[in-house]
Amino acid sequence: MDLPVADLADKLRSKFMELYARRRRIGEKFEGHVMLPLVVRQLYAMTRQLGHLNTEAGGRDEAQVSEVTASHKIIRHVVNIKDHVCTCREWQVSGKPCAHALALIITCRNAKMEDYLDPYYSVYRFRLAYGGVIKPLPDKSQWVRVELGFKVMPPLDKRDVGRQWKNRKPSRTREASLGAKACGRLSVKIAWVLAIGLTLQSALLMEQRRGKCVCLFKIMHTC
Ligand SMILES: [Zn+2]
Repeated sequence: MDLPVADLADKLRSKFMELYARRRRIGEKFEGHVMLPLVVRQLYAMTRQLGHLNTEAGGRDEAQVSEVTASHKIIRHVVNIKDHVCTCREWQVSGKPCAHALALIITCRNAKMEDYLDPYYSVYRFRLAYGGVIKPLPDKSQWVRVELGFKVMPPLDKRDVGRQWKNRKPSRTREASLGAKACGRLSVKIAWVLAIGLTLQSALLMEQRRGKCVCLFKIMHTC
């Protein structure tokens, strides 16, 4: 039986096979680099946009960096380039120095961006991530047929189109509203019975006062 899910899985396998091969080729071009050149270039580009930051050095590797926001609010962060920490937490989360950290790094003599990046961005890790080879496969018609010993059939139950009402449990609010409706209908019926009863009673009294013969059938017809 031709199952679309088999085609989908095969398509995904082909895509991943291509992606891994492409990334392996890219990894081979990084010979001589410790960290991914693209990330290092990105950090150097960021160092040209730090004019809004003011650095005040504290210890040897520590500083407080003041940032003037677009709304002219001043926010101050503490950076430690030895521990790769900034109080804005971007460096700890992304593994790349944040703008505050870069403001301090560029003040250091002979600072190398590679020293401040997490090993996650290393060429070694990149090559390791895409090192596994996904094997090419022939066409589906050439795949080995496996006898399962049973036949896979589609599910027996078919759901109706639209919302399924059959097994639906009404919510408490719906139950309450249904109860209120039932109570309302009953009270209307009682009111009708009372009204008819009172009408009959008043008609009987009037007829008695007039001294006429009381005929229930007649009264009902005159009501
Ligand atoms: Zn920061």
